[in-house]
Amino acid sequence: MRDSFGRTIDYLRLSVTERCDLRCRYCMEEGGVPKRSHEEMLRIEELAEISEAAVSLGVRKIRLTGGEPLVRRGLLTLCERLSALPGLEELCLTTNGSRLRDFAAPLRAAGVSRLNISLDTLQEEKFAFLTRRGRLADTLAGIAAAEEAGFDRLKINCVLLGGINDDEIGDFLRLTYDHPWEVRFIELMPMGPCAHWGKERFLPVRTVLERFPDLQPLPEDEGVARRHQLPGAVGSIGLISPMSCDFCPRCRRLRVTADGHLLPCLHAKTERNLRGLHGEELRAALLAGAMAKPLGHHLCAGGSETMRDMNEIGG
Ligand code: SAM
Ligand code: SF4
Repeated sequence: MRDSFGRTIDYLRLSVTERCDLRCRYCMEEGGVPKRSHEEMLRIEELAEISEAAVSLGVRKIRLTGGEPLVRRGLLTLCERLSALPGLEELCLTTNGSRLRDFAAPLRAAGVSRLNISLDTLQEEKFAFLTRRGRLADTLAGIAAAEEAGFDRLKINCVLLGGINDDEIGDFLRLTYDHPWEVRFIELMPMGPCAHWGKERFLPVRTVLERFPDLQPLPEDEGVARRHQLPGAVGSIGLISPMSCDFCPRCRRLRVTADGHLLPCLHAKTERNLRGLHGEELRAALLAGAMAKPLGHHLCAGGSETMRDMNEIGG
């Protein structure tokens, strides 16, 4: 699939639920997502059908996200179906890790190839404060279980929160001396609950380089992160700056929300309902969605244009 600017579109982010067992302060309100009936959400069968159509059009990588994918019933069945699709090269999943201790081995057995695990602090109390109901020990146990299950090249996602976790940048960097992980710092995007937070909370990821000038750049790969490494480290550091349009020119993604809407861009207002579409109609809608991709978003200038929160779209 190609978009109207000639970019290859071969990456689908599929949100499998809006719900979550945590309530990260920047992502979800304390009360969680407004209750919607199960019928409003894509069934496992529909999620698989959309994925199959996307793969038939050239999608090579699917990332399952949410909400928290590990709270979605039937997730393992979905993973088994998707990993068996001829042509799909990578089946990835982003998780908060809280349930990964139990899920890591079954996910591996169901064909998931890579995991991204979100971890914004290494301090127990701060973790409890930030997630409102999570326990650091659970996510750390989940990371250990993922390694035990054979997931290598783990990516650890840390959203930079000025005045909250930027005092821990050094602690996160030091993890890469002992672990072959890519620790990724991500700029906070003003969406949903954090849309009106004070500007001191929004730190550019170049802060990491300014504070740790020892970091050496690594060659760019196809991803959105600018990669660096500390001398002598086995792991690497990724810097992701969604607040600039840095990676828009290289964007290869389409997104589908848990209620079946195709989004051409994380911050786009235009959506296309895929529900009820099958076969050629479904494929045509996916192609039209790819053609509707904007060249870039306008986060810095005017803010996100989407009416959805991050937990609906999947980060
Ligand atoms: N629940 C899973 C998790 O936390 O990894 C998957 C969904 S979550 C929405 C995906 C990613 O989006 C997480 O790494 C989260 O930290 C990030 N995220 C959520 N809200 C964000 C925001 N306003 N700005 C930047 N990243 C955000
Ligand atoms: Fe849940 Fe992930 Fe949002 Fe945190 S960032 S509330 S874990 S969906």
